[in-house]
Amino acid sequence: MRNWESNVRRVVPYVPGEQPKDNGIIKLNTNENPYPPADGVIKALKDYDADNLRLYPDPSSEELVKALAERYTVKPSQVFVGVGSDDVISMAFMTFFNSNKPIIFPDITYSFYDVWAKVYNIPYKTKPLDENFRINPDDYNCENGGIIFPNPNAPTGVCESLDKIESIIKANPDVIVMIDEAYIDFGGVSCIPLLKKYDNLLVIQTFSKSRSLAGARIGFAIGNEMLIKYLNDVKFSVNSYTMNSLTQKIGVEAVKDESYFKKIVNKIIQTRERTKIKLKELGFTFPDSKSNFIFASHPNKPASEIFEELKRRKIFVRYWDKPMLNNYLRITIGTDKEMDIFFEALEDILRN
Ligand SMILES: *Cc1c(COP(=O)(O)O)cnc(C)c1O
Repeated sequence: MRNWESNVRRVVPYVPGEQPKDNGIIKLNTNENPYPPADGVIKALKDYDADNLRLYPDPSSEELVKALAERYTVKPSQVFVGVGSDDVISMAFMTFFNSNKPIIFPDITYSFYDVWAKVYNIPYKTKPLDENFRINPDDYNCENGGIIFPNPNAPTGVCESLDKIESIIKANPDVIVMIDEAYIDFGGVSCIPLLKKYDNLLVIQTFSKSRSLAGARIGFAIGNEMLIKYLNDVKFSVNSYTMNSLTQKIGVEAVKDESYFKKIVNKIIQTRERTKIKLKELGFTFPDSKSNFIFASHPNKPASEIFEELKRRKIFVRYWDKPMLNNYLRITIGTDKEMDIFFEALEDILRN
């Protein structure tokens, strides 16, 4: 080891799902939306004046903040936008998880949380989910430096009730509780209305899943004005110009088209429910999902084998070779046509 290496911030990075370059792959591995973005997004891209690129973008993303504030009936001063919710959550960790007490999150959850905790030197503890992959709110009734979990949870798809979430927020008035609602649009109930009662709640959402814009990188947080001010203070101390002007424009268009949003989300929910029936017929077990994916396991065939066999047939799902997860597949809901091909492949794999 060289001497200077002892001064390096060394981290084990988060590993995102594979983005294969091949065409013809059925991609059910990163929870992307199988449908295109709204028409207004496509038009805004076509009409974009490249001369704008000479100029710095609006550092406060005012138009997008305004559109989101209207959509969620909050004040613009309650909205923070970032480059994907990963950027928003990372900023929020830096801003709000700044004590010597450990932050807490479930043992099975989004695998980025522990990475951010380590990169920012935030102590953390995990709490086990119960045998049905549910959160026990009593586990969160302890001294801590803050709380985060996704609702619905990832990679399980399990959605907790608003009452349970409220009990956790209520029991922790001295820390910030972040609810990562990346998948809330697929059938869960958002805790945004709880903001009226609790100033220590931060709700984080993304355009990557329900709004078909994973490639554009748009995420946002909604919270009490003070929280949003603190977040902006940190953001403007790191990089003022996070979101480019083209992305700000298409973000506004995506928020405005409520009817298209509802249409594709409902379509994905329909396909998900059909997928549950089909997976059950094939013998899979899984917790009930309220997201755009299903976390499934088969009693007769190891998940690793099914994963490899699917891959050989050019169907990608997500698999983690990690304790507690290594006999599960996380299957993103695609189009009906994609899912039919997937079911056929599964039937074939399970026959052998
Ligand atoms: C996908 C996902 C995110 C991040 O999405 P972005 O593309 O960065 O907006 C955050 N949290 C969870 C639980 C996710 O699954």
